[in-house]
Amino acid sequence: MSVDTAAEVAQRFTRLYGSEPEGVWAAPGRVNLIGEHTDYNDGFVMPFALPHTAVAAVTPRTDGVLRLHSADVEGGVVELRVADLTPQADRNWTAYPSGVVWALREAGHEVTGADIHLASTVPAGAGLSSSAALEVVVALALNDLFGLGLRGWQLARLCQRAENVYVGAPVGIMDQTASACCQAGHALFLDTRDLAQRQVPFDLAAEGLRLLVVDTQVKHAHSEGEYGKRRAGCEKGAALLGVNALRDIPYEELDAALERLGDEAEVRRLVRHVVTEDQRVERVVALLEAGEPRAIGPVLVEGHVSLRDDFRISCPELDLVVDTALEAGALGARMTGGGFGGSAIVLVEAADVEAVGKAVQAAFAAAGCTAPRIFEAVPAAGARRLS
Ligand code: ADP
Ligand code: MG
Repeated sequence: MSVDTAAEVAQRFTRLYGSEPEGVWAAPGRVNLIGEHTDYNDGFVMPFALPHTAVAAVTPRTDGVLRLHSADVEGGVVELRVADLTPQADRNWTAYPSGVVWALREAGHEVTGADIHLASTVPAGAGLSSSAALEVVVALALNDLFGLGLRGWQLARLCQRAENVYVGAPVGIMDQTASACCQAGHALFLDTRDLAQRQVPFDLAAEGLRLLVVDTQVKHAHSEGEYGKRRAGCEKGAALLGVNALRDIPYEELDAALERLGDEAEVRRLVRHVVTEDQRVERVVALLEAGEPRAIGPVLVEGHVSLRDDFRISCPELDLVVDTALEAGALGARMTGGGFGGSAIVLVEAADVEAVGKAVQAAFAAAGCTAPRIFEAVPAAGARRLS
């Protein structure tokens, strides 16, 4: 997000509310490099921040009034009272920023109102976490303006609570933590059990590498029910194995654990994905820290195969991206996000970007699929104050 854009957002705020904002903040969307469906198993994830951000111009108020406006949504300013905010009463976009105010107040922080104008370049509903970007930018602005002194991971927890309880969406902690805590040129190694985190070098440009995000633009209808089933299956596996979460099965004990699951074929597949996926995150961390970014390619592919064959949440379009990209010379590729559609990521040599992109487009055309949207993802900065 350029400073110019921050100035534009501030100008629109001034036109809307009649005085200049106290400040302008930005928070990014994210892509998950590796660690899929591990977060609700207390496991490891490894997202990085996108250059796409939600930007908020904000001025605090002391009279209990909350005014909200988004440049990206039709309609005028929405005016609410902070004392009246009620979980799951609001089905509109305003539930995300209001939910953050509600969560902060519920945690005992004195937030007495605000004027907020938002604008975002994170595509909504594409699996790139436009919702977390919106929440985190509001949380960071209020944290600064009301002097709350909360750290990034604490803001992430409150934003997750806003989305879980106020909006009513059962999301994990990855998206908000990525938006709040990522650093440019790095991926974030996050332990979702205790939120321990480590910034791992992932400076693609410096290595002559590129990472493409291929948004298939498909969303298969049964995705939400299937998510619930996978989650329940993982919980059943943990219960059968006598652990709190599948995270507690060490990779070295996987074979013994699978044996103990006997003829529970489906649970065995789910357990195998989660335990091997946690180990893949650790392998990717080790390779990146050893300065071998190209070597993560095959690990990404293993992750895709596991999601396709064991967790069974891929779809023909995602498989087509991965297979075509690998045939065209990509170093690695995998589906990313919840599954049954959404986006895949592709790791390529800088010189191969065009050839791989063209091959994917051609394969989609030949298969009669909607043209995918392809863009390069540069690991960017997490949430920050712009002015
Ligand atoms: P994702 O987080 O994967 O993009 P979600 O369904 O979790 O998808 O969040 C998308 C929702 O977030 C939108 O439907 C909208 O309510 C809200 N949202 C995202 N960006 C904006 C924006 N710029 N202005 C207003 N609301 C937004
Ligand atoms: Mg979301």
